Amino acid sequence: MKLDNYDIEIVVQGFPGKAVCHGGMGWSSVVLIRGEGRVALVDTGSFGMRRLLRERLAEHGVKPADVTDVILTHSHYDHSVNFTLFPNARIVIGADELGWAAEQPWGESPVPELYVRALKTWPTLATAADGDTVFPGMTAHLAPGHTPGCMVYVLHGRERDIVFTGDAAKNRAEMLSRGTDMTFNAAQSAASIESIWGYWQKKKGSVLVPGHDVPMIQVDGRTEYLGKRDARIIAWFGEDLETTTVFRLEA
Ligand SMILES: [Zn+2]
Repeated sequence: MKLDNYDIEIVVQGFPGKAVCHGGMGWSSVVLIRGEGRVALVDTGSFGMRRLLRERLAEHGVKPADVTDVILTHSHYDHSVNFTLFPNARIVIGADELGWAAEQPWGESPVPELYVRALKTWPTLATAADGDTVFPGMTAHLAPGHTPGCMVYVLHGRERDIVFTGDAAKNRAEMLSRGTDMTFNAAQSAASIESIWGYWQKKKGSVLVPGHDVPMIQVDGRTEYLGKRDARIIAWFGEDLETTTVFRLEA
């Protein structure tokens, strides 16, 4: 994807689902933005993505040390923990989000307590407030509900914008139905989704990038999806390593 002087790539595509017997899966989107001398990531995925993230960034010619900005939508482990992979990056997170996350009782939520504690004193931490410009051309917008301090980020182009919703709208089902699953406050989530519709529809052809789904655009009142969902699991159900079963998690 191009937006004026920026190149935007989906490094890891988020998945809109949760496990039935094993809790959350945490397969979230990681997006690379390059331009204006900057190399930025919106969200960083979870522990299981570390190797994949390095590999995918390398395919784009990016080393972790090249990343100048890590922009976190919220504190949940599946979006935030890999900020530690990027030694030279400014780490941006909402001030309200970080304050809230730091006060959460340990062991009771998807907030990674020790990572949040480390982030609070991280030398390159840059906390953002509602309306702040966090990166050239990108503004932060408080979108509470999923967590109290969730941020939505809008990258402003001349003709269209790109709206990164994180988990304020995790997937097309939440965005289009305006309902939410796994939210801290459902009424706040619904109000935030209305605000997101406003950012998305402000300029024709603007792209919405949810936290756990493929990017989408509005065309003549219909929603179109950029790219195809792709998710697979490989399992060893047999008694040797050669016998595998692949499950495609696509629709
Ligand atoms: Zn989340």
